[in-house]
Amino acid sequence: MKSISSSAKTSTGDNPPRPGDPVDTLRGIGPARAADLGRIGAGTVGGLLRLFPKEYILPSRKKSIADAVEGESTVFEGELKGVRLVRRGWRPSVVEGTIADGTGEIRALWFRVPYLAKTLKPGASLMLRGTPTGSPLRLLHPGFEVIRPGEESEFSGIVPRYTGIPGLPQKVLRRAIRSALAASGDLVDPIPPDVRRRHGLLPLRKALEAIHAPSNEEAIAPARRRFLFEELFLQQVIFAKRRGERLSGATVHVSRKGSAGRALDRFLGSLPFRLTGDQRRVIGEIRADLESGRVMERLLLGDVGSGKTVVAAAAAVHAVEPGGQAAILVPTEVLARQHAASLRKLLAPVGMNVGLLVSDLPAAAGRPIRSALERGELTVVVGTHALLQESVRFRNLALAVVDEQHRFGVRQRELLPGKGVGAHRLHLSATPIPRSLALTLYGDLDLSVLKESPPGRLPVTTQRFHGAERKKAYAHLKERLAGGEQGFILFPLVEESEKIDLKAAARAYRKLAAGYLGDFRVRLLHGRLPSAERIETLDAFRAGDVDLLVCTTVVEVGVDLPKATVMIVEEADRFGLSQLHQIRGRVGRSDLPSHCFLITRGTVTPQAQKRLAVLELLDDGFRIAEEDLAIRGPGELFGVRQHGHAGIDVAAVLRDPELFEAARHEALVVAQKSAETVTSRSG
Ligand code: ADP
Ligand code: MG
Repeated sequence: MKSISSSAKTSTGDNPPRPGDPVDTLRGIGPARAADLGRIGAGTVGGLLRLFPKEYILPSRKKSIADAVEGESTVFEGELKGVRLVRRGWRPSVVEGTIADGTGEIRALWFRVPYLAKTLKPGASLMLRGTPTGSPLRLLHPGFEVIRPGEESEFSGIVPRYTGIPGLPQKVLRRAIRSALAASGDLVDPIPPDVRRRHGLLPLRKALEAIHAPSNEEAIAPARRRFLFEELFLQQVIFAKRRGERLSGATVHVSRKGSAGRALDRFLGSLPFRLTGDQRRVIGEIRADLESGRVMERLLLGDVGSGKTVVAAAAAVHAVEPGGQAAILVPTEVLARQHAASLRKLLAPVGMNVGLLVSDLPAAAGRPIRSALERGELTVVVGTHALLQESVRFRNLALAVVDEQHRFGVRQRELLPGKGVGAHRLHLSATPIPRSLALTLYGDLDLSVLKESPPGRLPVTTQRFHGAERKKAYAHLKERLAGGEQGFILFPLVEESEKIDLKAAARAYRKLAAGYLGDFRVRLLHGRLPSAERIETLDAFRAGDVDLLVCTTVVEVGVDLPKATVMIVEEADRFGLSQLHQIRGRVGRSDLPSHCFLITRGTVTPQAQKRLAVLELLDDGFRIAEEDLAIRGPGELFGVRQHGHAGIDVAAVLRDPELFEAARHEALVVAQKSAETVTSRSG
């Protein structure tokens, strides 16, 4: 029998644990394990209680051996009939045990633990947890416990399982947490009682008991709900306070209110189209920010083609009017050039010039722009990462816009506004995500949403074609090209198979250009071509001198070519859902009807089938993002993983948007109250 008497610790009885006690005061936790726990934030009794189970073994998983089912994780209880150590030459040792429970026998194999052959004694009662496999069914390396006579097995009730720490057996962790529960009454509940009451949330102590030692299955969900609320609530309080503390005062750029003849009014009056209601509302939100005397920090979420660029332009016009400058950071050179061109057109009526700064510019060409920025002679600049270089300085940066913000790291996003004092920030994102998710990830920013697309836009008709059916898509393309419209044929390109992918695109290009589409002006475009050539090709396409682009994903993000109406995506099953939505967004940018054809061949996985079906059905990017989250899980969604909000169960937030809204609402109330206290104390 193992001895635990070497430790004189008592965690119960006359010395109940207290939340602030170090964990090594608990039975079974020595200094080394305490250090391991400390590293994951569970170094104190109170901290340990915040280590929540990742799953539970439910009594319903218990089965008799005769009922064992292949592939089903099960708990068995039985008597160890025999045990032996098997060594085969140089191979790792295997301990083989046979367990019987009156209904049958099952073999269990443990690897690389030869000592088990000695410590496990035939005749012992065992509780085993594993997944039967093979024929006859066996258990490979199952978890087990020896049940001593008179001792009730921990597997008899609901057993929590925690994220493993190497060297810390679940059994030890479970016991330590159980005894730590005695301290839960001394913990301060971070959710105020009235908030708990309003939303039917368990008090902290009850919730801790229910999550670590649930009396039945039904007790678990309310506890989880309470802790999710708590996390969201605390996070939103922090976000709200951060928003409240945003820089205000003398160093902030303040745009002028009222007074007719302002640049913004002239700009809005000069637009070649009518703004959508969404665009007008968002411009209003930005205008209020810029006139408020506090630094703006706003995230603009907009679906593909919803017209974010003109909103950013309006922001720039208003922000720079009292003598400031605006800078727009974009992820690619193609986009930088496109934005510079469209901003030049949009800003000409108000007499603003627009500079371009990209890394491919020869040093000599970049120099005049840098010096104009430094002297304050240039009001608006568009650029790639080149803008972030130290040599780029502004005389008076009033607004930093980051387009496709998820393509930049958090630190990079900070670099640009850092080049000014009290500069406003506007982040644009074309990955439409549900509001609850946006506010979980970026709740310290104010949020504006553009959903509406410009008037007259028709939804892009989306169709799947498999194998030989693709001829229909190509016939349609040919017809449209003959009618003077433009199109794309897009091929996937991934790093691992880049060479093969490029060849596939180039081969298709040669074949089509020489044969089936020989009557049209076809060009090849991919990221490996020299940038001058890429730019020339896109310009020619924009000018109408090219009918069709055979390309890779270089046209995926942000590119705006209004006359294109047909998009054929080859091997569409190799793309992600949000990515396909972006790609499809390259067409349907005018009042002509557009088509997107998704081509597949060979076997298509059920997951890919689902993605393509969603795309055929939906065109609202926000809905598509929700489906994408449902299919892939939030960890995979572009931009979510890198953000590293490991703490919050994003999937649960999406499943329960009402709970999220409740937590956010209560957080705003709390933050508002504490802000009032601060003001009344200082004033
Ligand atoms: P995105 O939101 O994807 O960045 P863009 O800003 O590139 O979209 O706009 C897409 C296209 O729609 C551009 O050609 C732009 O000139 C045009 N556009 C934007 N707003 C309107 C509007 N209100 N009416 C008509 N066309 C518009
Ligand atoms: Mg854009």
